[in-house]
This record gives sequence, C-alpha cells and structure tokens, in this order.
Amino acid sequence: MIETQHADLIVIGAGPGGYAAAFRAADLGRSVVLVDGRSTLGGVCLNEGCIPSKALLHAARVIHEASHIGAWGISFGHPKTDIDALRARKDAIVSQLTDGLGQLARRRKVRVVTGRAAFVRDDELAVTTADGGIERWTFGQAIIAAGSSSMQLPGWPQDSRIWDSTAALELRFVPRRLAIVGGGIIGLEMATIYSALGSSVTVIELAGQVAPGAEADAADLINASLEARSCIVHTGTRVISIKASAKSVRLSCEGGYAGTVEADAVIQAVGRRASTAAIAAVKAGIEVRPDGAVIVDALCRTNRYNIFAVGDITGGPMLAHRATHQGKVAAEVACGHASAFDTAFVPFVAYTNPELAWVGPTTAQLKAAGVAHKVARFPWAASGRNLASGGGDGLTMIAYAPESGRVLGATIVGPGAGELLAEVGLALEMGATLTDLALTVHAHPTLSETVAFATERALGRLAEL
Ligand code: NAD
Repeated sequence: MIETQHADLIVIGAGPGGYAAAFRAADLGRSVVLVDGRSTLGGVCLNEGCIPSKALLHAARVIHEASHIGAWGISFGHPKTDIDALRARKDAIVSQLTDGLGQLARRRKVRVVTGRAAFVRDDELAVTTADGGIERWTFGQAIIAAGSSSMQLPGWPQDSRIWDSTAALELRFVPRRLAIVGGGIIGLEMATIYSALGSSVTVIELAGQVAPGAEADAADLINASLEARSCIVHTGTRVISIKASAKSVRLSCEGGYAGTVEADAVIQAVGRRASTAAIAAVKAGIEVRPDGAVIVDALCRTNRYNIFAVGDITGGPMLAHRATHQGKVAAEVACGHASAFDTAFVPFVAYTNPELAWVGPTTAQLKAAGVAHKVARFPWAASGRNLASGGGDGLTMIAYAPESGRVLGATIVGPGAGELLAEVGLALEMGATLTDLALTVHAHPTLSETVAFATERALGRLAEL
C-alpha cells in the first residue's frame, strides 16, 4: 500500500520560479515541500539553460576579442580549444550554483523531494521517484512551477546529431558544419557560441528577421554581426524536410532560401511549450489555454483556489526573471499577503555578441496598437567608450510619448546591453520621461551614456557631431 503524506504547501518544480516561491513561503513561516525530477535544484535555467549557456558565451566572447586584438598590435595566435576542459569548467559553475541552492533550501528547512509530480486530484499529487516508486502527497496549497520543454518539429528523425538546446549545451563535439533551425534567442546564442568554437554556422529562421519579437533595426545589427563572423543567415525560410545519412544531416528549405543545407549537427530551437501535460493539470481541473499554458490571474492563482502557477508553464514570455517574480507573488498571496505580478515591463536579453536587449513595446508594436510615439536614438559609433573598448556597431533606441516625453520602451544593442537596459526598466516602472533620463548625470566615459545621449539628442540638448 502506498502511504500518503501531507504538505502544507507543495511547490512543483525547482527552477527560478519554484525555488523563489518555496524560499519566500518558507521565509514567511510556512512548512514547504519542493518537488523536482532532477537531483539538483535550479531547473532548466541553472542546469541546462541560462547559466551553462552564459559560461560558454563568455568563452566565445574571449575567443572573439582575442582574435580581434591583433588590430591593436597584440597577438595571441590561434586559440586552442580543449573542449573537455571547457565542458568541465561550465559544469563546475553549474554545480557551484546548484549546491548553493541546496544549502539555501536546507537553511530554510524546505523539504526537497526528488521525483516527477503529477496531479491525481485538486488536492493530491503522485510523485514518481527515480527508482520507479510512487509517493502520494495531499496538500493544502500547491504552486506549479513545472516549466517548459523544447518544441520538436513534426516528422524529424531521432538522431544523435540533432540537438535541442540541452544537448547543444552538453558540448558533445564541435561540428564542422552546424545548422540551427530557429533564429530566436536560443538559436542566436548557439550561433554565437559554436561559431566562436570554429563551426561554420547556418541559421534558418521562418520569420522575416532574426529575433522576430525585437526591433527590426536591432535585429539587422545582430544579423550583420553573425555574418561578420561567417555565419550564414536565411530568414523567411522554412525547413520542409530533413534527412539523416551516415555522412551528414541534410535540410531542404523553401522560401527566402530555396535549397539544401548540409550539416554535421543540427540544433532545433523553434520555441518551448508549457509542461502542462506532464503534470496532468487536467486531473486537478485546472484551466489551460489552447497552447497548453496554465491560465493565471495577476495573483498567480489558477481557477482552483488552492493552486497557483508561475513561470513558463503559464505561457510567455518564458524568461527566468519573470518566473522568479511570479514565484514570490504566488508565495506571498498563498501566505495571505497582498501581492500581484502586474507589470508589462519584462526585459528580454539575447546574450549574443553584441548583446541585444529590449524592454517594453517595440516601435512595431506601438504602431500596431495605434500609440503615438517618437524615437530617441544614439548610434554607438559615436560613443567614445565603445570605440575605446573595441566595440563595433551598436544602438540605443528609446521610444517615448511625443506630448509628455514619457518613456514607452527601449532597445539596446552592444556589449553589456543587458546590463544597460536596467536603467530604462526602472524609468518605465517609475513613469519617467526623456528629461528625467537626460538630466541624470551619467559617468563619462561609459556605455550608459548612450541612454543619456539618445534622450539629449531627442530633446535637442546634444551638440551633434
Ligand atoms: P523563440 O520563440 O525565442 O524563437 C524560436 C524561433 O524559431 C522564432 O524566431 C521562430 O520564428 C522560429 N521558428 C519557429 N518554427 C520554425 C521553423 N519551422 N523553421 C524555422 N524557424 C522556426 O524560442 P527559443 O529560441 O527556442 O527559446 C525558447 C524560450 O526560451 C523563449 O521563450 C526564449 O525567450 C527563452 N530563452 C531565453 C533566453 C534568454 O533570456 N537569454 C535564452 C534562451 C531561451
């Protein structure tokens, strides 16, 4: 007979949404059980997503910069890559962080259960452990933070040379020819990593530009930077068939590029899907959208009063920082506190080289919504700090309301764009205007000055070149 245990509050999934929820609830005095299928905490983000990719992107940036410093009279010679050592370094960083999370859980007396949870009813879960055993858990409240998984295109063969992002980050080998299907954030970051490691990369993107959700001018700069490192980018192109042979994997394409792409490995990066089916949400009577995302309100409540949901499983944008904020909100509401996730300003960052970052609506979205706007722009070719740091093309763009000058959104392309964006994020949250940004004294010479310069330019306060 299976013994049933009871949790006051159970959190399903230990990624950035789940651990944030579990820790916050524990800090607020609750007894918390945190369930995850992995033996380490941190979810996709820490174990096989954000963190390992950033470690590899750091290596890619160093390789790139070292190869360009020749123009400054300094030469390191051709880099020698020890892929085993690189993989070990990446794995060590991941372990350090997952171990740290384990300590944070122990310190808060959060009980961690390793196993895959699925609903049996709206107050009961079955948890399948690694040895195939089943634990039954009833609960007072539950927070679902079970995340998402890579989408697979239909009809693709099973082949060890066809990778999802997890497999790509395992760094199995550096293919001579790499095809990447999907030029979204994952596709662009993988192109940055593998081109630096020596692969000839071809990116195939269905939409008319890479990073389709981003500002078109910014996407153009990213496209150009990829082409400058010998990547081939086919936009407006669909893969119609894929054939794996002993020699290679061959992709047949139609649209913008009609022809074949022959590769030694293929990364499929065509989006992610909420893991709703894996947790049998339907058995708890939880309402989901047609795309499978769990429906929640601003308090992160599902239609079941005792069940909350946060992060990727609630749909897009599927970003770790959104999940973390929602996780804290769900924990606070579950503990009887007044809290809500009510912002429209979730920043996006592609950690490419240069980085691409944006927050708030793009100009295309403002136009489509009929919102009157103007754009303050500053090209990074005129930034002293950028030139003196070896930076190339970059751009700071800030959309604002013509009457009030209120900031509506921003896009930044350049080294460290993701860091620079935080200032504009705060401006948006505070309802700041162009003048607020222009009158804020920015240190010289810094890249953050590009935010001030863009606004001063729009206000006619900058001495033009
Ligand atoms: P994405 O939605 O960002 O990009 C998928 C891309 O694939 C899109 O550009 C889409 O037009 C294209 N596409 C779809 N079907 C296609 C087809 N048949 N042929 C060619 N192209 C096709 O998804 P992703 O890059 O897979 O990332 C998944 C999720 O993970 C996203 O929500 C992303 O924001 C998130 N993520 C974020 C980061 C970060 O914040 N730095 C990093 C990695 C992933």
